Amino acid sequence: MFSQAKAHMPYFIFVTGGVMSSLGKGIAASSIGALLQARGFSIRMKKLDPYINVDPGTMSPFKHGEVFVMEDGCEADLDFGHYERFTGITCSASDSMTTGKIYETVLNKERRGDYLGSDIQVIPHITTEIKNFITAGHEAVDFTICEIGGTVGDIEGLPYIEALRQLSIELGKSRTICVHLTFLPFVKTAGELKTKPTQHSVKLLQSMGVQPDILMCRSECELPDEIKDKLSMFCNIEKPNVITALDADSIYLIPEQHHIAGLDRQICTHFGLRCDDEDKVDNLVKTTWGSLKKSITNPKSSVRIAVVGKYTKLKDAYISLTQALIHGGIANDAKVEIDWLDSEWPADELLSSLSKVSGILVPGGFSSRGTAGKMLAIKYARENNVTFLGICLGLQLAVIEACRNVLGIETATSREFSEEGTLVVDFMEWWSSGASIELRTMDGDKGGTMRLGSYRCHITEGSLAHKIYEATTTSERHRHRYEINLKEYRDLFDRAGFAVSGISADGLLPEIMELKDHHFFVGTQAHPEFKSTPFAPHPLFKAFIKAAATNNQPKLT
Ligand code: GLN
Repeated sequence: MFSQAKAHMPYFIFVTGGVMSSLGKGIAASSIGALLQARGFSIRMKKLDPYINVDPGTMSPFKHGEVFVMEDGCEADLDFGHYERFTGITCSASDSMTTGKIYETVLNKERRGDYLGSDIQVIPHITTEIKNFITAGHEAVDFTICEIGGTVGDIEGLPYIEALRQLSIELGKSRTICVHLTFLPFVKTAGELKTKPTQHSVKLLQSMGVQPDILMCRSECELPDEIKDKLSMFCNIEKPNVITALDADSIYLIPEQHHIAGLDRQICTHFGLRCDDEDKVDNLVKTTWGSLKKSITNPKSSVRIAVVGKYTKLKDAYISLTQALIHGGIANDAKVEIDWLDSEWPADELLSSLSKVSGILVPGGFSSRGTAGKMLAIKYARENNVTFLGICLGLQLAVIEACRNVLGIETATSREFSEEGTLVVDFMEWWSSGASIELRTMDGDKGGTMRLGSYRCHITEGSLAHKIYEATTTSERHRHRYEINLKEYRDLFDRAGFAVSGISADGLLPEIMELKDHHFFVGTQAHPEFKSTPFAPHPLFKAFIKAAATNNQPKLT
């Protein structure tokens, strides 16, 4: 489709953000990736996070949002979730960089004596390491899209802007492009969009030697021509490269909007990648991304789901989960209305909220805080035949709840909450992907030491899980320290009504458990939400939404 041979040409797209945070740089970068794929290019997505943590694994979901888990077990920034969901590619640890990691690398080299006695400086040592990260593995793809975390002007971000300035010089403009995402506030009293914050943000970039090539302007309305003229003139950017990034009702409507606004066309024009058949690209974008439109904006039915968790005040803390539920809705042509229930609410408030929903989901989490509320929701779902999905901690608590309330074993608990009692959830050995036995301890490191990443699971034929997955094996991503203690308490779980319908490859650790006398009560030790995409909704979420939508359950009065 393209007139210029594209193989082996490294093209780098840098995505920076200005004016303020939360403008959706991750979505913008993902959308660029998806649109380039629609043009037949292969892409790789990388993220450079200026914070000093080595990875976000130790950061609180309350403050920073979800920790996304990659296939290889890398604990990464939540933007990787958007990258994977929008483009269908699988990212890996080598795509994620933080200042902490860069310094770790540089300091290790310094200790080894690699720098031969020179003093170590931000320029060139840190910036060289950043450039090495950006360019590594570029041969395998047409485009490497690099999102720079934070907002232009942040102190932590300076070495990154400097590195991309250097790369633009070294590789030339024909190989690099800077896409700057900014915000145009609409001032009601003046009745107009204001360009000044964007002008300042671009000036800031220019003062660091970087001229943005494309301006993506987040705005609540289409940019009028005179605003584009103004931005073009003051920001030194060609007018067709001043692009409206309209607010959207759903993130999945954004790629088509960006395409119509000319984003991918202008990127290709910058690189001299002339397309002979723009109509074909238009059609492809319309048939793929446009196909989601109907079930997102005008679905046939709606279903109300309660998510009972601890981090409900910050929606980003459950972003992959939210998206997986939305995907489950898309698969069933249903709108998913999520009621976020704080597990620390009083019991009567929780119960009255639970009585209004068709499905209950207890997500992953850490520590004992809020577990009483989660177990109350689990008990309610179990006793009232309400569609239930438990994820990771959600499964562990479902097992504890049944041991306590069905079998009367009051002491049933997890080692995470108590050192004593009937430890039905405990530290267990597991075979790591490196084929060695691993066992966690109470005083081990907190960072990067959980059962992380993708593990295989064997599914029992004839189980509900089998019906859902339509397979006898699967693999899902994990992120947890504790396991269901099948070794010691198999008979308890059996007596409580559970079937182990998914088991680890070594046959020791339950991966999926389900209640036998319930229409849909499924718990998984893994995090299926990380693998769901709008075009391939995850089977568990698809089945969960379907069961919730069709099950006529009794209500508490
Ligand atoms: N806190 C539990 C564990 O570490 C569950 C973790 C989770 O839900 N991701 O095992």
